[in-house]
Amino acid sequence: IGLGALADDLVEVARPRLSVPTADAHKYTRGLVAVVGGAMPGASLLTAGAAQRLAGYVMLGGGAAGGGHAGGTLALVHRDGLDDPRIGVVVIGPGLGRNDAAAERLEQALRCGHRLVIDADALMLLGGPERLRAQAHLPILTPHEGEFATLFGPLPGSKVDRARAAAVRANAVVLLKGADSVVAHPDGRAAIAAPAPGWLASAGTGDVLAGIVAGLATRLDPFDAACAALWLHGEAARRAGPGLIADDLLIHLPAAIGACL
Ligand code: AMP
Ligand code: MG
Repeated sequence: IGLGALADDLVEVARPRLSVPTADAHKYTRGLVAVVGGAMPGASLLTAGAAQRLAGYVMLGGGAAGGGHAGGTLALVHRDGLDDPRIGVVVIGPGLGRNDAAAERLEQALRCGHRLVIDADALMLLGGPERLRAQAHLPILTPHEGEFATLFGPLPGSKVDRARAAAVRANAVVLLKGADSVVAHPDGRAAIAAPAPGWLASAGTGDVLAGIVAGLATRLDPFDAACAALWLHGEAARRAGPGLIADDLLIHLPAAIGACL
């Protein structure tokens, strides 16, 4: 697949153009992300750590709030509640778990009125794409193939066809992951990413991607945020190199961001 347009409405994910914070920027103007965690704080911390690289302020709530903090995330604010009007994006799923408390946190997130990034356990708990149709802000879903099959069932056609159909059914941007991740918008836009390093097949890398998406979606169109996140994630993986683990992506994200300025 060459760079550039593949068809009228299918493009290859390209290096995004990001901007340097202006002199009058402060932590709230650079975007506030709320991460709703749960049973597995490590996964939520990876999501929060990635969001911290791209947004000005990240709050971590849910069960993860009681889990202490990992090294290097001292700026992370542990706080429950999604009623702060400064919240730009709520990301839910990584580390959430699937117990009753997790289901209740998902219901709260669905009612909160902020843009949602929905991943991992939250996709498994959702109960059907129709549940998202009342959202005021187009949600972004980041399933791997297993989560996609649970949420949407079997769909015909290519990976791009399936992501497109899912985007329409959920009225959401769908980022369907894998070696060849694709993004689809219900308006028909679709993008396909260049093959990412196979070293990404490692626990936690998807949680990092969800955090990157959330950080970018505080200020970009949700389709553009999903595409830009895929590029940054792949670039961080290329820079991290063989044997990478999810934590390494956090370390290499700044250089990947720097390549987009
Ligand atoms: P998850 O399945 O949620 O843990 O996310 C895994 C992340 O790694 C996603 O961003 C995938 O696109 C990526 N990934 C998984 N397996 C591969 C692979 N074999 N080659 C390239 N990227 C992969
Ligand atoms: Mg995952």
